[in-house]
Amino acid sequence: MSPAEFILVHYHEISLKGRNRPRFIRLLADNLLQATADLGVTRAQRLPGRIVLHPGSETSWDAIATRVARVCGVSNFSRVLRSPLDLEAIKTTLAEEVARHPFTSFRVTAKRGFKAFPLTSQELNREVGAFIQARTGARVDLEHPELIAYIEILPREALCYVGKLKGPGGLPVGMSGVVVALLSGGVDSPVAAFRMMKRGCRVIFVHFHSHPFLSRASQDEARALVARLTQYQYRSRLYLVPFGELQRQVVLSVRAPYRVIAYRRFMARIAERIARLQGATALVTGESLGQVASQTLHNLAVIEGAVELPVLRPLIGMDKEEITAQAQAIGTFAVSILPDEDCCQLFTPRDPAVRSTLEELEKAESVLDVDGLVAAALKGAELQEFAFPPGVLGPAAASLPASPTSAPAPVPPGP
Ligand code: ATP
Ligand code: MG
Repeated sequence: MSPAEFILVHYHEISLKGRNRPRFIRLLADNLLQATADLGVTRAQRLPGRIVLHPGSETSWDAIATRVARVCGVSNFSRVLRSPLDLEAIKTTLAEEVARHPFTSFRVTAKRGFKAFPLTSQELNREVGAFIQARTGARVDLEHPELIAYIEILPREALCYVGKLKGPGGLPVGMSGVVVALLSGGVDSPVAAFRMMKRGCRVIFVHFHSHPFLSRASQDEARALVARLTQYQYRSRLYLVPFGELQRQVVLSVRAPYRVIAYRRFMARIAERIARLQGATALVTGESLGQVASQTLHNLAVIEGAVELPVLRPLIGMDKEEITAQAQAIGTFAVSILPDEDCCQLFTPRDPAVRSTLEELEKAESVLDVDGLVAAALKGAELQEFAFPPGVLGPAAASLPASPTSAPAPVPPGP
């Protein structure tokens, strides 16, 4: 990008209430730097109501745009040219930017963050609009313009730009604490994890697999999903927990209709133990009400009855189409539909009970060594760490809780 160009990032003012504001802005600036850590960006400048990223000479706008579009908390962003605070300079700067785009109708939208500027926003719109019209021959259309040319008047300079690209919105990752997400290889749970990131959570992932009873395919899929999702939170941790032996024990003593519920209760218990170890304060699943027999109101209550931590279900009111569209937008769908060998294909009967009760499950589990099974699964768990951009440690790394293991886990390449 040229030395006169910058990236202007806007966030939604409305999500910034009171004392949270400085933290929101600091985290968003840190995350923007982290997301672009290998692209030569030199600085994230915090201005009133916006953040300006300063690119290096080798920075590519297309690469920056892809990254910034994934930073939670960003409402929209633009490539901007800076101009001195002078009407003639603003006219030529904006005309230069506008010349890159083909259009037949346009509008100028000026905003004054610095009220001492001698022209009002209306006067700026008119003056600069007339200049662009004379230069390009395009028509002014206030209602449905093909192109909107923006001017922002700041205390020491003006920002000139065309168009706005959308960010994910929401809150910057790190704002809301840590959660543990139960990640299968399916379509739903990666979307659930993303929804929590978008509300500012750092997500730690837990995947249950049935190796050596089944192949390692589900673990590869979980890794590929975490690699994708790490693009939104920069550092991730994935626990791969062996579940086959536990399932075998459940089959021996729990009647077929209750088995899926019993599996889910064990998953929740194990995830809760990991959450306590990691300072996470909630569990997250991809369950959606009524999607399958194990996801009725009765069964969801019995599943969360196994743990004390809250179980968050961000997809509870979403349809499969909505979830699928979101999975496609965040890039997890293509990975989720790869064939895997999910642990739930092992020892799982076709027709689970739709109205289980806590007493029934507790009775069924009473013959099992619940604590022993949980401890054995945890003992066999493997921990893997992920970084994005691959191998670069930027400011966001500091917000991840310390690893519970002394041995550093390998950092695999990013997606
Ligand atoms: P998904 O598409 O996320 O697999 P699903 O609609 O297939 O969800 P279930 O298979 O009933 O639903 O699983 C419900 C939830 O339980 C999942 O969304 C996920 O959070 C958790 N879960 C299921 N299987 C696993 C697994 N093998 N490892 C970790 N979590 C799992
Ligand atoms: Mg599933």
